[in-house]
Amino acid sequence: MRIWLGMVLAVALAACAPRAEPDLNPLAERYVRLALEIGAHEDGYIDAFYGPAEWKTEAEADPRATAELQQVADGLLAEINGALEQARDPALQRRARTLAAYVASARFRLDMIDGARASFVEEAERLFALRPELRPLESYDPVLERIAQIVPGSGALATRVQTFRDRYIVPEDRLQAVMEAAIAECRRRTAEHIALPENERFSLEFVTGKSWSGYNYYQGDNQSLIQVNTDLPVTIDRAVDLGCHEGYPGHHLQGLSAERLYRERGWVEFSVMPLYSPQGPLNEGGGNYGVDLAFPGAERAQFEQATLYPLAGLDPASAAARDALAEAMTELAGARLTIAQMYLDGQIDRERALELTQLYQLVSRERAEQSLDFTDEYRSYVINYSIGEDIVRAFVERAGDDSEARWRAYESILTQPTLPGDLQ
Ligand SMILES: [Zn+2]
Repeated sequence: MRIWLGMVLAVALAACAPRAEPDLNPLAERYVRLALEIGAHEDGYIDAFYGPAEWKTEAEADPRATAELQQVADGLLAEINGALEQARDPALQRRARTLAAYVASARFRLDMIDGARASFVEEAERLFALRPELRPLESYDPVLERIAQIVPGSGALATRVQTFRDRYIVPEDRLQAVMEAAIAECRRRTAEHIALPENERFSLEFVTGKSWSGYNYYQGDNQSLIQVNTDLPVTIDRAVDLGCHEGYPGHHLQGLSAERLYRERGWVEFSVMPLYSPQGPLNEGGGNYGVDLAFPGAERAQFEQATLYPLAGLDPASAAARDALAEAMTELAGARLTIAQMYLDGQIDRERALELTQLYQLVSRERAEQSLDFTDEYRSYVINYSIGEDIVRAFVERAGDDSEARWRAYESILTQPTLPGDLQ
């Protein structure tokens, strides 16, 4: 009798018990191992990895062929989507949705490694989960006219702007001091709003022979290697840009935050950072927007004039003119994407792309070459900067004018699985 009653109770309880939530961790581990194997096929695909070292050794020792990895990715994606359907907890659903997007991006990268090419816009959407809207180049003509008023004179506007900007070059022997002061200030301002781990640190190196102007290699254990490219002269405005973008609250803080999700929450998918991933727009866009977040209003100009201009041996009184130009130049950022689209989609050749880059980015031939080298190397990755910045800015500034509220909004991107679509 007692047994019979117990059985009834057990059956009744089982019927009422909530269904167990799916466990994403084994799926996340398979994603990380897949990413590491893709990294064995493509140099530079793995931008950062600080998970179990043996996973990397194993992936590199005997990577499967891309055709097999494509099947692995398809199977994994189906399982993650199954888990997403079962998940009830909104936070778990969000993590599953994000993981699915990471795998879908990796899957498309495998096609690209095999030589597949989509249009610029489709490639961007499939790698970064963000479909870029591009404007025709003519729509930037009014900005050029405004800039022509700021930098009057005869001759090509690009040459005039270049001559103007040359006045703001940081002498090579002062570059280290200027960069260190800028990064220190970006760090100080970030630490006022976001708790940084005690052992967090970075090293700074100057390098040459790169298509980028700065790079952060996040190395794990709360450490970054920040590199600044000195192939072309570095102007004073780049110091705060790079300090915030590569350091605080940009890539270094992003690395610290992702590593924390991995170590403290056990979300292993955050132990790897593929270069091509839906994290791209958030990281590059967050890095760019980080300047305005850390230096609201006139604070950047004040800091540059009071600290960086004297360190660089430049006249602080010349800062206002440069700031007016810089402000107008930011409106040309989108033109770079349109040129990249036309070039990569085969609508214009390299020579025409160089001309248009000089015309619409107002740079020297050398700098246009560098810009196009970057487009050749990283292709649709270029959308992550200005379009990523637009969506991060819109999301953070929806929090209102209060600086603390904006920092909390920015931090929320770093402390939970987030896709570009979550900000829109
Ligand atoms: Zn970056």
